[in-house]
Amino acid sequence: MTRDEKYVLVALGGNAFQTKGDKGTPEDYWRNAYKAAETIVRIVKEGHKVVVTHGNGPQVGIIMEWMERSKDKIPPLTMDIAGAMTQGWLGYLLTQAINNLLVKEGLRTLVKGAVSVVNQVEVRKDDPAWSNPTKYVGSWYTEEEARKLAVEKNWALKPDPRGGYRRVVPSPNPFNNVEVEAIKRLVDDGWIVVASGGGGIPVVRNSDETLQGVEAVIDKDLAGEVLATALRVGTFAILTDVNGIYLNFNKPDQRKLDVIMVSELEKYYREGHFAPGSMGPKVLAAIRFIKNGGKRATIGHLYEGYEVVKGKSGTTVLSI
Ligand code: ADP
Ligand code: MG
Repeated sequence: MTRDEKYVLVALGGNAFQTKGDKGTPEDYWRNAYKAAETIVRIVKEGHKVVVTHGNGPQVGIIMEWMERSKDKIPPLTMDIAGAMTQGWLGYLLTQAINNLLVKEGLRTLVKGAVSVVNQVEVRKDDPAWSNPTKYVGSWYTEEEARKLAVEKNWALKPDPRGGYRRVVPSPNPFNNVEVEAIKRLVDDGWIVVASGGGGIPVVRNSDETLQGVEAVIDKDLAGEVLATALRVGTFAILTDVNGIYLNFNKPDQRKLDVIMVSELEKYYREGHFAPGSMGPKVLAAIRFIKNGGKRATIGHLYEGYEVVKGKSGTTVLSI
């Protein structure tokens, strides 16, 4: 696969499955999935070969809460297994929605269909993130409960900016998509592939080459970049709930970036314009993609997804 404008990797944010005011019912999930699927199909219709990745923060939190509440009856599982569950859950929603739209629009001759891959992503055993857990997951606890859980379960818990205490887990840097060869084959064979969901199931490689799941959460935008670079796609599009990258975000003098060179964006990144848990990793993923030889990275609103891919909406990051 060459660097080709035809190939696009689309990263979907939380709003692809849950939007403000949703209760998280199956109807809410389907409505949102269809809305995201519309964007994907529109991009496909214009002749692009599309790979899709997505976040899983809210859903992994829900699974952890289920496990927490039923722990006296059912043994809780581990976070890598919870991540795998969300890939099945969200991959099913997205692929069925995309496939049904393809059928309705008579597009089954254009692509074979959408398929979802249970996908592991490699992190390093010596990543500094292991000793500095930062990513909030699961339920909220009182300070007293938190103290107890820290001892009982050997969890790290920290005060959440939104109140209460929550478990924090490491967010190590992804560097290898384990199933990338199979994904490549599927894309070249004409499938829309959903992969690296929730940043991938985090695994480490042992000295005998075997893999092993770990208790961590990988950032989906950074993992998306690893896949986009390995697949050598032309465009890496990050679709979220804001219409681009802003300088001085939420301040009176905020300014949206329309087109920006990677060197200038790096300077702003270092100056701290982008919040660590949200826009920060998106900007870092875009910078890495361009530095690794990608042509264009775009960041913008999901509901203008097609325009964002084309660079007509959102922020476009270019090389030099
Ligand atoms: P997703 O689920 O799509 O990954 P995130 O919440 O992680 O969404 O990131 C998107 C959010 O980043 C926006 O809703 C916005 O509030 C926030 N954000 C923080 N800093 C910036 C910035 N400099 N420019 C634009 N958005 C920003
Ligand atoms: Mg995010």
